[in-house]
Parts: sequence; C-alpha cells; structure tokens
Amino acid sequence: MIANRSRQASVIVIGAGITGIGAAYHLRESNISYLVLEANDDLGGVWNTQRWHGARCDSDFIKYSFSFKPFLSPRCLQSREQIHRYLRSVAEEFAILENIKFNTRVTAAVFDIREKRWVVHTSQGTFTSQFLINGNGYFSEPHVPAFRDSDKFGGEIIHTFDLDDSRTFIDKDVVLVGSGSTAVCCAPELARVSKSLVLIQRSPSYIYEISNKSSLFAVFCQYLHTIGIAFPVKLLRFYLQWRDDLIFVGFRSFPRLARWFFKQHWLDTVGEESLQKHFSPRYEPWEQRIPVAIGLKEKLRRKEIVIKTGEIDRFAESSILLSDGENIKCDVCILATGFDLNFLKFDMYVGERKISMAGINFYKGVMMGSVPNYFQPVGVWHSAWTQRSETVTRFAIKIMAYMTKNGFRAVSIDRKEVEYSPGITPNYIMRCVSEIPRLYGTYELPSIDNIFSYRFNAADFNLS
Ligand SMILES: Cc1cc2nc3c(=O)[nH]c(=O)nc-3n(C[C@H](O)[C@H](O)[C@H](O)COP(=O)(O)OP(=O)(O)OC[C@H]3O[C@@H](n4cnc5c(N)ncnc54)[C@H](O)[C@@H]3O)c2cc1C
Repeated sequence: MIANRSRQASVIVIGAGITGIGAAYHLRESNISYLVLEANDDLGGVWNTQRWHGARCDSDFIKYSFSFKPFLSPRCLQSREQIHRYLRSVAEEFAILENIKFNTRVTAAVFDIREKRWVVHTSQGTFTSQFLINGNGYFSEPHVPAFRDSDKFGGEIIHTFDLDDSRTFIDKDVVLVGSGSTAVCCAPELARVSKSLVLIQRSPSYIYEISNKSSLFAVFCQYLHTIGIAFPVKLLRFYLQWRDDLIFVGFRSFPRLARWFFKQHWLDTVGEESLQKHFSPRYEPWEQRIPVAIGLKEKLRRKEIVIKTGEIDRFAESSILLSDGENIKCDVCILATGFDLNFLKFDMYVGERKISMAGINFYKGVMMGSVPNYFQPVGVWHSAWTQRSETVTRFAIKIMAYMTKNGFRAVSIDRKEVEYSPGITPNYIMRCVSEIPRLYGTYELPSIDNIFSYRFNAADFNLS
C-alpha cells in the first residue's frame, strides 16, 4: 500500500530508464520534489530488459553516461550488465532509488485544466503532480516479420527480445536474421555458443568495426579524473560529441568519400566479391544508424560467422530458403528484427481531449503542441541519447523554475503543423513515420544545439 502523501509531487517522471534516472538527478539538484513511476520491478529500461547475447551500447560510454557521473573505463563500449549496474549505482548514490515506485504502470494521464495539474492513473492507483516528464522510451512491441511457411518449420523461431544470454546452442545450426545494431552486436557472441552461425541480411549494410580500447588521450583524461582533475573528461566528452556530429555531417555531405572509407574498412577482411555483395548498401552512409562491431571481422575470417544477403522466401522443415534458391540449414532462427516505435505508452488527455502523438509538433525535443506542463526528453539518432536528453531535462527545469519564481502554473506551446523529415531513414522509422512526433526548433546536432538551442526565452511559451 502506498501512503497518500507519497502520491503527490511537483513532478512525476514516467519510467526509470536512463532518461528517467537522469531527470530524477537534475530535479533533485534543483530541489524539486519528484516521483518516478516504473512499470517493471527494476530500473534500467532497455538495459534491464534486453538480455540477448552481446547486448551492449554502440556509443562511447564515457559520452553516453551522465555528465554528472562519467563512467571511466579502458573500454569504449560497455555491456548491458555494466550499463545496468552503472544506472543502479547512480540511483543509489543520489538517493533516487527511494523515489522510484516499481511495478507501477501508468495507464492514463489526464491534465486537469481547472486545477492545472496532472492526474496520473496507474496499476497502483492515482498520483498527481504539476508537471510530467515522460521517459517511457520509444520501443514498442518486437517487430516480427511474417515469413511464408514459418508454421511448417520444425525448429525454434525466437526474437532477440525473448532471448536470454544464458542459453547455448552448441549442437544447433543457428540463423540470425537482421543487419542492424542488434544483429551486429549479437553475432560474434552467439557464434561462441552455437554449432554454426549464418547471418542473413535482407540487403547490404554499413558496419564499422572497432577494437573497443579507449584511446591514449581518453585514458589520460580518465586518469586525471581519478586524481581530482575533472576538466579533461569534460573536454573528452565534448570532443566525442563534436566528432559524432562532424562524421554525421561529413558522411552525409560527401557520400562518395564515405563509401570509399567503408570499402577500405572491409576490403582486406572480406575481399572484393563479398564486399560488393554484403557491405555495399543501396543507401548512403548515415542515412541509417551505423552499427559498431567488435570481433566480427575475426569471426568472418575464421568462417565462424557466414553472411548471406537476400530475401527470405520461406521456411522448410529444417531450413530457410532464400529467394535466390539457396537452402540454409537451421535449427534455431533468431530474429534481430528490432522493434516498432511508440513514443506514448499510455492514454493521455488534456481535459476531455485525447492526445495522439501522430504528427504532433514536438518543440526542441521537449514539448508537444497544446499539451501543458508536459516534457518528453528524447535523444538524437546519430549520437548518444543522453547528449540531448540531459540538456532537454535541464531546459524543462529552467522553465519550471521560471514559473515558480513568477507565479505561473501552466506552460504550453501552440499546436501547429510543422514540416518534418527524420534525420535518418531506416526501416523501423519509415514503417511508422506518420505516427511519430514532428520534431523542430533545433539543428539536430547536439554540439551546436547544446550551446545555442536551449536558451530559455519566456516569450516562446504560453504561460498562465
Ligand atoms: C540493445 C540496445 C542498444 C542501444 N545502444 C544505444 C547506444 O549505444 N547509444 C544510444 O544513444 N542509444 C542506444 N540505444 C537506444 C536506447 O533506447 C536509448 O539510448 C535510451 O536507453 C532510452 O532510454 P529511456 O529511458 O528513454 O527508455 P527505456 O530504456 O526504454 O526506458 C523506459 C522505461 O519506462 C518504463 N515504462 C514504459 N512505459 C511505462 C508506463 N506506461 N508506465 C510506467 N513505466 C513505463 C519502462 O519499463 C522502462 O523502464 C540502444 C537500445 C538498445 C535496445
């Protein structure tokens, strides 16, 4: 039973993933009372739920970790377990854990126009607050493509969402379907525990392999941090942010150069024929997020992973048939086919009016048109999520502080039509582009936005 006094706060944060925990920290620093409502029985969001072999980030974690607690390590990328532990340690260190209500799924949020406050209905009763920060993530259900004759297949078909990395397939021929980050992270680890592994991708993709060792510069900055000199790590994070943005803009502006770069990156490992077949996509570099591989080249060289590029035509009793007629033996088929997107995982009303996220104007990745006292921090597609989500949270807190100081109780922006085309165009975005909020008001480059786009100007908002 939750006591009545703990059912109210200035801010309700929905979700205890990296967004919600970051928001909780910044609210605490600003002495604003908050409650985090989390549907699951543990924090971490995707870093708690994605338990497949090799689940990890592909952004340098020193940049993806929070600005107020950078994660120091001789490795650039961290595993799911490590990120989960890190988020828990942040929640413990900053007394966030005691403000999280677990097993509390938000089912509806209603803005009471007269009282100017949110009434949040959950599986554990009703909560109220002046403001909502929504960190409910953007992944919805696992995306499971329909394959012809999959019902005739005698083996197992499992989506990575349901896969646990404690499973082994030592006596099984495994086929992994997909070519995004999940497939690229999963394949080398899966190959270690399978009899054989074939990776089937529908079309060629760009993949970038790293050694996962921090550079000497990064190691030195981190060393200085451990002896109390914090500035170099701040500089390092800033440098990594600029590097991400420069690569993104550079690759998009000079696609031929970018294609040449990827050709050089793979030619020695796979040879010309394989390069053309599997690593020369129809789209240009950074039109889709570029997966970062660790150990994939070695596994390909040793033929412990075999790549096939082509459409799956149908399943047979113990194999998968590609549309070019190739028959691939398969006992277990693992689908690394991603998720559908959903930015709003509960019903939302302003008064009697139901809010839909489809096509709504989404100002600076922070406020939705005509939804008062509501903030939804999101990241950018080409860089680490926190590079924007933290900035957006701080911006929301600036708005709250201004309102408190000047006696305002409601803030909103107008509902209006805005032009929008997503910064990247992978299938999972294009499948539901009309369903997603239309972001505007930034350059979509955190290194610039974080300096210029989040200066608070009261005239940009409707305040009452
Ligand atoms: C394997 C993997 C690797 C990734 N790697 C990177 C990377 O390298 N860099 C990067 O920037 N991004 C990466 N991402 C994207 C990642 O989703 C974001 O970086 C970030 O974790 C999003 O955090 P979040 O807190 O907003 O959402 P989530 O992590 O999805 O957390 C949302 C939380 O809200 C809770 N919730 C949802 N609905 C409700 C409800 N109705 N009521 C109460 N609680 C609710 C959920 O239970 C969950 O705990 C990766 C994602 C995956 C799956």
